[in-house]
Amino acid sequence: MDFERAGAGALATVFEELASRRVASIAGLDRTSLDQLQALGVLVRDQAVLDEDVDLLSATTIREALTPASVDWLRELAVHPHIGSTNTALLGRLDTDGVAGRVVTAEVQTAGRGRRGRAWLSPFGRNLAVSIGVAIDRPSSELGALSLVVGLAVRDALLEYGLKDIDLKWPNDVLMYGAKLAGILIELAQPNRPAELVIGIGVNVGCRQAIADRVGQAVADVAEQVEHPSRNRLLAALVNHVVAACGRFAAEGFVPFRAPWDAAHHYHGRTVTLTLPGTGSPGDTVSGTVLGVAGNGALRIASAAGVREYIAGEVSLRAAGETAG
Ligand code: ATP
Repeated sequence: MDFERAGAGALATVFEELASRRVASIAGLDRTSLDQLQALGVLVRDQAVLDEDVDLLSATTIREALTPASVDWLRELAVHPHIGSTNTALLGRLDTDGVAGRVVTAEVQTAGRGRRGRAWLSPFGRNLAVSIGVAIDRPSSELGALSLVVGLAVRDALLEYGLKDIDLKWPNDVLMYGAKLAGILIELAQPNRPAELVIGIGVNVGCRQAIADRVGQAVADVAEQVEHPSRNRLLAALVNHVVAACGRFAAEGFVPFRAPWDAAHHYHGRTVTLTLPGTGSPGDTVSGTVLGVAGNGALRIASAAGVREYIAGEVSLRAAGETAG
């Protein structure tokens, strides 16, 4: 499905009605739009309908679940019925007094993004898409490790929310039972100290069936462990943990996160294959044993070539034998 197009025109009205009344008329929609609603899992006979179990986003409920520290930090909480990408929207706020302290979320992202231009699928009401703007006063050489810090914070939020078997995959995927539950995309909005960054997080909450066939890797979903999951409560937990972790990272750097990160890494001590598309010859790979992460967040691998460190950026990690898509 062309998610990019789904935010346009008549569908925007459908999304807005769904977000306010859980039901919307589909009269006058063309075939393509109807197919898009079908793919989003909201088309029921002659109207668009949202299941009762979908916890619609509510700024009030989210605010109530924030810690006092997060409330102090928060400057703006924007909840949209639909959006292209929460990260893109927040990056667009840079000119209006910076991104720090702002949170953007939406019921549906029509052009959600992953790393390296990949798509992130977020069906209506069934994926938690949130972007958090932060300012971090550290040398730019250290900012690469923020990816790992945020992965750990997301994991902590999910554990606090009551989930089990949550691991990390370097640099910043969050896995449940070894399958991808959440994705993180960090974008630099402003490089001068203090740097401003937009932290985008997508978590599957009830959409596994809708997306499993369209994602080239194993997918996990909060709803596999929690009945009637509350996206509002989960979103607040994410903000609480990410804001606290960024504060600690700004004060202490990656040092206090390094050992906990290794302990949470699904592939620690295992044999993996790294795909290095940025090294000149596309498709280069290296296989070896994961020794842990370095002080800058790079992954230390022991291979036939000796011990080397790989920085995130262009590198993809897979279990040995799997290939990065
Ligand atoms: P890397 O391992 O290099 O991070 P990745 O494939 O995990 O690679 P990301 O940018 O983290 O890349 O995420 C985008 C990828 O995630 C897509 O290419 C797709 O395979 C998968 N994906 C897209 N939407 C979802 C989703 N809702 N849940 C799980 N996986 C998804």
